Amino acid sequence: MKTIGLLGGMSWESTITYYQQINKLINQELGGLHSAKILLASIDFEVIETCQKNNEWEKSGEILAEYAQSLEQAGADFLLICTNTMHKVAPQIQQVLSIPIIHIADATVAALQARSIHKVALLGTSYTMTQDFYKQRIIDQGIDVLIPNASDIRVVNRIIFDELCHGVIKESGKATFLRVIQELAQQGAEGVILGCTEIGLLIQQSDVALPVFDTTLIHAEVAVARALS
Ligand code: GLU
Repeated sequence: MKTIGLLGGMSWESTITYYQQINKLINQELGGLHSAKILLASIDFEVIETCQKNNEWEKSGEILAEYAQSLEQAGADFLLICTNTMHKVAPQIQQVLSIPIIHIADATVAALQARSIHKVALLGTSYTMTQDFYKQRIIDQGIDVLIPNASDIRVVNRIIFDELCHGVIKESGKATFLRVIQELAQQGAEGVILGCTEIGLLIQQSDVALPVFDTTLIHAEVAVARALS
């Protein structure tokens, strides 16, 4: 079994899901008392979020690259960045590593293709929804991406940072996400990407008629397949 390196803590609420899901899947595959070989670097998210707000992406990339190197040196065979947003600096991190990063958007594209989705709704932070670093990777594979209108982008982003990243799960937040998903479905979305690793704390497949692509669960599944390959 290969050792999975996790760059987590962004936020720690979603890193719990990664840890749980990876261990659960490894045990399903191997049985007995098997659990995953994981090295976790858990980062102080306040520092990273301040960089995001100040548009200091390169600085945040340097911080993450240092943690990533320590995971490689400790014996990680490959790396997951446990946040969609910070994939903005994935190329900068990859540059200092000789082990691969499994890109969360690539894992998600494979899941979309497996379900023959051609037009998909994307929910995430405002960075993920409006910038190209993530969306374009999906579009490049021939899949159209729908995002909410400007005011809903602000609302979704606020719920992520002010509620979900604090572990606060509210009915009002859930109702908002379901309304936004419904509106994007009316515009032709055939599925919805939960493109922020905390959204799965609020919305599950059972809440939504459209196929749901939870990036945390997809990323964990791809990591387990790789760890066992
Ligand atoms: N975990 C979130 C994501 O997947 C948001 C936190 C962040 O800005 O990194 O994008």
